[in-house]
Amino acid sequence: MTGRRKLIAGNWKMNGLKAHLSEVSAIAKLAGARDDIDVALFLPATLIAAAAPLADGVLIGGQDCHQAQSGAYTGDISAAMLVEAGAGATLVGHSERRAYHGETSADVAAKAAFAHGAGLKVVLCVGETLETRELGDEEAQDWVVDQLLASLPEGADPDWLTIAYEPVWAIGTGKVATPPQIAAMHATLRAALVARLGEKGAAMRLLYGGSVSGDNAADILHLPDVDGALVGGASLSAAKFAPIIAAA
Ligand code: PEP
Repeated sequence: MTGRRKLIAGNWKMNGLKAHLSEVSAIAKLAGARDDIDVALFLPATLIAAAAPLADGVLIGGQDCHQAQSGAYTGDISAAMLVEAGAGATLVGHSERRAYHGETSADVAAKAAFAHGAGLKVVLCVGETLETRELGDEEAQDWVVDQLLASLPEGADPDWLTIAYEPVWAIGTGKVATPPQIAAMHATLRAALVARLGEKGAAMRLLYGGSVSGDNAADILHLPDVDGALVGGASLSAAKFAPIIAAA
């Protein structure tokens, strides 16, 4: 993943069995036809080893990794395990991890730093709940900036770190943030990144995620400061992912 080339990333969440690996191959074919953008798939950990050899030209990633090397953390997965399985990246801080597993922004920063230390690229997710958005657009922006700054790892660098803005109320709901809402949030996040990281903040990719589909991708991907998309439901099949890749 380099510079601010567009990145179209799919997050399969807890979906996908070996029978679905044909979709990985089909998505790799789509990605192979585009040398001007990056494509990534964040898969269930159980599919990574089987998917990696099928996914030439697609960055394969896990959906979370623990902030320790190894140890008594039943059910968790380490960065080294992801690397050994064939992953080149991981998500951290997805709102479903924050909500259902109680992950704090400090946890997220530690996970990102640890994943980078193990050689993984990292896509770090932030985003506000509906309750916060209903306080007002500016309040939502302030809240997400605070969450982002608290989640940023030591040594954050665009060579390995990408930020995904995903309003929680837009994830899996079919309710997309409006282009003005996305543009305003991305401009605010960009300013915060530049204030914190200088040139590195200017060069860091900022993705939008939340009910992105073939119908709305072009409108979103052409907004200033939107450097790609993190896509859940519409990344599960090549047929639905194709128009999003085409819109980048
Ligand atoms: C996601 O899981 O990160 C996501 C954005 O999901 P969806 O596209 O289904 O809203």
